[in-house]
Amino acid sequence: MDPEMRRPFIVGNWKMNNTVGEAIKLVTTLKNLIIDETHIEVGVAPPFTALHSVSVALADTPIALVGQNMFWEEDGAYTGEISGLFLKDVGCDFVILGHSERRKYFGETDKIVGQKIQAALKSDLIPIVCVGESLDAREQGKTLEVIESQMRTAFSEVALHDFEKMVVAYEPVWAIGTGKNATPAQAGEVHHFIRSWLTKYYDAPTANKLRILYGGSVNSQVAPMLMNEQHVDGLLVGGASLQAEEFAKIVKFEEKKH
Ligand code: PEP
Repeated sequence: MDPEMRRPFIVGNWKMNNTVGEAIKLVTTLKNLIIDETHIEVGVAPPFTALHSVSVALADTPIALVGQNMFWEEDGAYTGEISGLFLKDVGCDFVILGHSERRKYFGETDKIVGQKIQAALKSDLIPIVCVGESLDAREQGKTLEVIESQMRTAFSEVALHDFEKMVVAYEPVWAIGTGKNATPAQAGEVHHFIRSWLTKYYDAPTANKLRILYGGSVNSQVAPMLMNEQHVDGLLVGGASLQAEEFAKIVKFEEKKH
């Protein structure tokens, strides 16, 4: 399949940053900077408390609203949780699942990620599923083994027709928020592995349609080199997405290539 068919997707993960006022300011600057993008799909993932305000601010733009996490049940006695139903209700089309910070601080396992994928699909949300190895695993030469095991468990219940809609993000844990990014070659190797594995697990047309994003200390300097890799179809940007100009620079560079 022509990689051109995979529309590049650049998502800003704001994590636990931005009050409602700050979020509105950021997204207003951002939407004025990226107004005519047609080849690149752009998304932002604000904290839950700012989703509604950002959704209103983005109403007249193609920028997608993304949830940072969700619970696997739809509603009920789950104090403090937010379901896919609520994310959809507030205007989200996507949800990030299995981010390494969720795994590290909230004990999310691949099995839980799998449950959340099912719930997201049921709520008509597109999961952006994060996978990635620790520094230890990389140093022991176990990177691909770890990624395979994460995908095997998380995708075990995902049917082919559902998988077509999904997005995978390769985020090496050692690169998140550390200022160290994977080299384009390292990212390229893992992205190629993910696509090959999914070709065997599902089929080639499905695997070829899937967008695989890279995330880990991406900024406007390294983004073009990473995006040059054949199987890197987009970026999940944390820290750099908190500055509208920096995030817009990443998006605009990619847009110009088309
Ligand atoms: C992320 O939050 O997914 C991420 C990759 O963060 P950062 O870009 O700050 O490393």
